[in-house]
Amino acid sequence: MSHIKKIVLASGNVGKVREINKLFAGCGIEVIPQSELKVPEVPETGTTFVENAIIKARHAAQCTGLPAISDDSGIEVDALNARPGVYSARYAGEGASDLDNNNKMLSELEGIANEKRTARYWCILTFMRHENDPVPIITQASWEGRILEAPRGDGGFGYDPIFYVPTHDCSGGELALEKKNKISHRALALQAMLEEFKVHKFI
Ligand code: IMP
Repeated sequence: MSHIKKIVLASGNVGKVREINKLFAGCGIEVIPQSELKVPEVPETGTTFVENAIIKARHAAQCTGLPAISDDSGIEVDALNARPGVYSARYAGEGASDLDNNNKMLSELEGIANEKRTARYWCILTFMRHENDPVPIITQASWEGRILEAPRGDGGFGYDPIFYVPTHDCSGGELALEKKNKISHRALALQAMLEEFKVHKFI
């Protein structure tokens, strides 16, 4: 008999599924992307990452009857007064591509000095045992950097080509995926979630 615990992931992002499964492998947890279970996307109507993460986890748990984990993430730029934040994916408009978003950010920051281009990624993870779970487990982490004046590298996704990582003196787009998966906002939030699972005896 298998004791593997199944959790639905409220995201269709293949990269996120791979990253989460890698970290949870060996802990007796299998993460299944919601797209495989025919869960439709739900509108992210919150104004904070936490609200959006809960909306997505609750919806996935409701549609599947499984415990659900969701990831809500984005980038906060100090010179833009914390924008685009929860609107990171649609910064340049609904359906915007990564390139559109990067170009818009570069033009909004034109003329702003290097030391004032500080920014950070945020990742908020939410775990709900069921759709009516009154105590979701929430973990969050950030990853500090600066917005470059031009893109560098073509790895990663989203804002990675214009996100300078001071600790490694390269852009997120130049950073090897194995390295990114050790230091990123998502990696740190996932590690914290694993610790919470142990505390709550979920694993
Ligand atoms: P979400 O998938 O709805 O949470 O949207 C998050 C958005 O934030 C993505 O579309 C990216 O634009 C940005 N983002 C979040 N995490 C990362 C990352 O690790 N690298 C680059 N961009 C990211």
